[in-house]
Amino acid sequence: MQSANNPVTTIHMIIVMQKSATKEMTDHVVSVIEEHGLRGDVSFGEQRTAIGVVGDKDKLDEGKVMRLPGVKEILLISKPYKKVSREYKPENTIVKVGNAEFGTGKPVIIAGPCGVESEEQIMTIAKGVKKLGAQILRGGAFKPRTSPYSFQGMGEEGLILLARAREATGLPVVTELVSTEHLDLFAEYVDMIQLGARNMQNFDLIRKAAQLGKPILLKRGMSASVEEFLLAAEYCLNEGNKQVVLCERGIRTFETSTRNILDINSLSLIKETSHLPIIADPSHAAGRYDLVPQLGYAALAAGADGLIIEVHNKPDEALSDGKQSLTLEGFGEMMERLKKMHLLNGNN
Ligand code: PEP
Ligand code: MN
Repeated sequence: MQSANNPVTTIHMIIVMQKSATKEMTDHVVSVIEEHGLRGDVSFGEQRTAIGVVGDKDKLDEGKVMRLPGVKEILLISKPYKKVSREYKPENTIVKVGNAEFGTGKPVIIAGPCGVESEEQIMTIAKGVKKLGAQILRGGAFKPRTSPYSFQGMGEEGLILLARAREATGLPVVTELVSTEHLDLFAEYVDMIQLGARNMQNFDLIRKAAQLGKPILLKRGMSASVEEFLLAAEYCLNEGNKQVVLCERGIRTFETSTRNILDINSLSLIKETSHLPIIADPSHAAGRYDLVPQLGYAALAAGADGLIIEVHNKPDEALSDGKQSLTLEGFGEMMERLKKMHLLNGNN
């Protein structure tokens, strides 16, 4: 397996074609690249066509490439991540999950329990959050718990219940994949695959999940830098899966008064440096329900493409993360406030 830093697989140069360039011109540039023992990775965007040069760029004579018909400019990418960067693709990537679209400027709200616990629980919550305006249902069937003694999720049964809740409400479902052993199940039941904070650098899991071709919700590791986060997403794009939504879910710092710190900086920064949509998870950031709405407002104001919120019909009895879960009423109030603040309209 070649690593991302291997010059054989890395893109250090992007050839941007003129708007008026024909497909023949692009093909010709690719053939010149190939004649030099390199590979041309073409991405057709709305605004422009770009060719990522895969391999050792020094083998190419920049001056000669500039003179090829249809070539507008040559960009050298110094950042370690390539395909997720805005240099590579200036326009926002739109990720579709059912009828929901991330990256359009209009935020998408995902809501549901931390874990699927019973048919009654997931049905009540699914119907409740749908009525209140959520577009995607969340709920873990396989829970990656810090303690082996905590609730580990219902497993396959949980996936079946999620699929029933989708049938009953029409909401697509997102749930976390923790092991490659479950890939077949996820191929069958799930609309969007969540890769959790604890697995952000489980590259084998990321690659295999991406290969399923379904949209991915990639959560930031609790101690991962923005660069490491974007490099993890790069693994998905390298598997040919561009349907990736990033999720800032709070990072660990010296501060212990809340569970994590929602890194608002990273939301605005990633919107600038990457074309991928990014959403925020104020529930896992705060660790307590009373702070969740405010963190959600702040995240959308900072440019997040959506929120993922933990909601439970009986938070006091929840088998996981009850402390940070909103009641259905609480979620309803939050949605009302979001509307009043014009944060759900888009164009942030
Ligand atoms: C979750 O979404 O319930 C979860 C476990 O999140 P994270 O991976 O961000 O801790
Ligand atoms: Mn949780």
